[in-house]
Amino acid sequence: MTQQRFSVTSGNTLRCRGWRQEGLLRLLENVLSVGEDPDNLVVYAALGRAARNWPSHDAIVSTLKTMADDETLIVQSGKPIGVVKTHAAAPIIVMANCNMIGQWAKAEEFYRLEKMGLICWGGLTAGDWQYIGSQGVIQGTYEIFRRIAEQDFNSSLAGRLILTSGLGGMGGAQPLAGRLAGAVILCVEINPERIEKRLQSGYLQHRADTLEEALAMIAAAREKREACSIGLVGNAAEIFPQILARGIVPDIVTDQTSAHDLVYGYIPAGVSFEEVERLRREEPDHLMALSSRSIVHHVRAMLEFRKKGSVVFDNGNLIRTQAHKAGVSDAFDIPIFTEAYLRPLFARAIGPFRWIALSNDPEDIRKIDDYLLETFADDASVVNWITLARQYIPFEGLPARIAWIGHESRTQVGLAVNRMVRDGILSGPVAFTRDHLDAGAMAHPNIMTENMKDGSDAIADWPLLNAMLACSSQADLVAVHSGGGGYAGYMTSSGITVIADGSEQADERLGQTLTNDTSLGIMRYADAGYEDAHDEAARRHINYLGVK
Ligand code: NAD
Repeated sequence: MTQQRFSVTSGNTLRCRGWRQEGLLRLLENVLSVGEDPDNLVVYAALGRAARNWPSHDAIVSTLKTMADDETLIVQSGKPIGVVKTHAAAPIIVMANCNMIGQWAKAEEFYRLEKMGLICWGGLTAGDWQYIGSQGVIQGTYEIFRRIAEQDFNSSLAGRLILTSGLGGMGGAQPLAGRLAGAVILCVEINPERIEKRLQSGYLQHRADTLEEALAMIAAAREKREACSIGLVGNAAEIFPQILARGIVPDIVTDQTSAHDLVYGYIPAGVSFEEVERLRREEPDHLMALSSRSIVHHVRAMLEFRKKGSVVFDNGNLIRTQAHKAGVSDAFDIPIFTEAYLRPLFARAIGPFRWIALSNDPEDIRKIDDYLLETFADDASVVNWITLARQYIPFEGLPARIAWIGHESRTQVGLAVNRMVRDGILSGPVAFTRDHLDAGAMAHPNIMTENMKDGSDAIADWPLLNAMLACSSQADLVAVHSGGGGYAGYMTSSGITVIADGSEQADERLGQTLTNDTSLGIMRYADAGYEDAHDEAARRHINYLGVK
């Protein structure tokens, strides 16, 4: 099978009995077209799959093509199980991916069940087909850099150096986010193919093959205070300590290697790709030990940079957790990005909201951009982001856009776009979705909910309530995922998708789903004691009961 096999469908010809089914089918095609290893159904994050295996994939496709509007397809860890008669306001698909029972929720048990073909990991947006390429996390990363600029660098990253690693499905957004934030960003990546992919997609500007070459590029860009992104071929566990040894202290340090997976993700220092492949097959336990050892060096270097004055943060890949398990007792001195930079936004349910042009017509996204620029003209962060995004962010797969907007604004956009579909202003329907890393949708005590004000970090009721609420609110697809970084036992999250097909029913589905999703997000943070969430609930007339 070759990569050419994975393309997206364009235009308005339906292969299914309605746009809700067709839209979801196109989203499945889309995550494979932009995925990291589509031959193996892998979308991103080492093992985040779009379906359990090819027979499951093919059965999902053929079922979507024949399903009626009043039926619901049940998908368990990427395998379609059956279709039941429901009603036209029920989801077309309900999914549960990688949910394991507490005591058994360990990486080793996940690998065992995965090998037996009983389970698959859906990542956050891979298994439920909401991934939109590297754009999906770019604004989050950009917002973090901007927040750091405001807090620590007098609001400007001009001439500042960001050091990071990992240019995979998600990490590939880092070079463009750093450049948009005005910085010089060095991304260490062990796999040259990943560097080439990001160069081709326009997310990365330059490649360096040695540290000397990279340092010369960095010096030239800093001198001119020019924003610039460089991908350096190398292993972060070796390069970070080498940079430290040269006495260079970057202004910001983070990492987005797939450190959550010690076998199929992180590549230990000093081991060739061929050897890693062999170890994956024959000695996974030994490979886990090697990866842990490398992560210890990697994180010790990050901690040392922190001591020397760099702003260091964990960008959601569990690298601190792995280092801590391997004996780095102060690994958690490195803060998590959510608590450090984004929580005030989440408390107001402002998060990574997205829309995707199902017709594959980029003009549709540009028209929606225009609508946003006009409607949110008073919101500087929306105007700034949409202006940057339309200028610099290349589309991958189906044209899509992300914007961090919150309660009421999401509903307003959803309904306006549905009207634009109905009136023929757009050339086809649009799918609305969001990252799972969103206000009420995720419990992850080492990423999303670390150090919650009321100590509710590990309580997974919220994403479960979120998914049930989305079903009651007429979403077209509702998914409950677990696993997360480390695969088992680290998080529970929920994903939703609604198709704006221009119909009046879609007005209802969008209105209820988008409004209730952010309502729950605000209530979750209000319940945890965040003042911003209390204010938002009062301002937006959300019926939060506030029981103590
Ligand atoms: P990916 O598997 O697609 O890419 C990881 C990249 O890291 C690969 O290109 C790999 O070659 C590289 N790599 C591995 N070990 C390395 C090493 N020692 N040195 C240099 N490069 C190395 O994963 P992804 O989708 O980019 O996700 C990366 C991590 O970010 C995952 O742990 C994921 O769970 C996490 N994540 C965080 C967020 C967030 O919101 N912050 C969102 C999604 C994913």
